[in-house]
Amino acid sequence: AEHDRIAKVLARAGLCSRRDAERLIQEGRVAINGRVLTSPAVNVGPNDRVTVDDQPLPTRERTRLWLYHKPRGLVTTAHDPEGRPTVFDSLPAHLPRVIAVGRLDINTEGLLLLTNDGGLARVLELPSTGWMRRYRVRAWGDILQPDLDKLKDGVEIDGVMYGAIEGTLDRIQGSNVWATIGLREGKNREVKKVLSSIGLDVNRLIRVSYGPFQLGDLAEGEAVEIKGRVLRDQL
Ligand code: URA
Repeated sequence: AEHDRIAKVLARAGLCSRRDAERLIQEGRVAINGRVLTSPAVNVGPNDRVTVDDQPLPTRERTRLWLYHKPRGLVTTAHDPEGRPTVFDSLPAHLPRVIAVGRLDINTEGLLLLTNDGGLARVLELPSTGWMRRYRVRAWGDILQPDLDKLKDGVEIDGVMYGAIEGTLDRIQGSNVWATIGLREGKNREVKKVLSSIGLDVNRLIRVSYGPFQLGDLAEGEAVEIKGRVLRDQL
């Protein structure tokens, strides 16, 4: 098992810097297994009980991230005022308590990132993080590629500015079109509103990627954890 200097343990718990840890110890506020420390030259093992002012250290769990294939029909809020089924009620049992990175509408399906780290979720949601979100879209209406190209410098709708949108017309299926839409922000109902502005009525919306992460062939309702190097390289 790993042993670490007490100052490092206190700093990692987010209590103080390593320098300040020495001061806490000098002030007699730090104890290991009930014995007050007099010197910072002490190692702590995983079974040692560290307290500061008689309080156990806050445990900071390591950051974890999952890819989840959201089915249609679920809302991405923990408590829906209308009592509709939520993503969080339906997650596979092996997941701990998580929060979602952004939201997908109730009738949107596809890739939703889940994490146990609220700070990470907020950062990944930011347009300034700049992560591309890609959607496969089926929409009722009659357009050609140049109509999608009009969106590439952004568009203003009802006083809201939407950023650059990449759109590729994939195929025409009866009175629907299939397109791939890429954007780097996640404003409320953004894809639907933006496509509506060029006369398309979205009737199927599938998020296929979020930044470096792909939906791939992850089955609906399933979640898979991103681990180790992949996680460290991407975050
Ligand atoms: N854009 C939408 O309109 N809905 C979503 O769920 C996601 C992006």
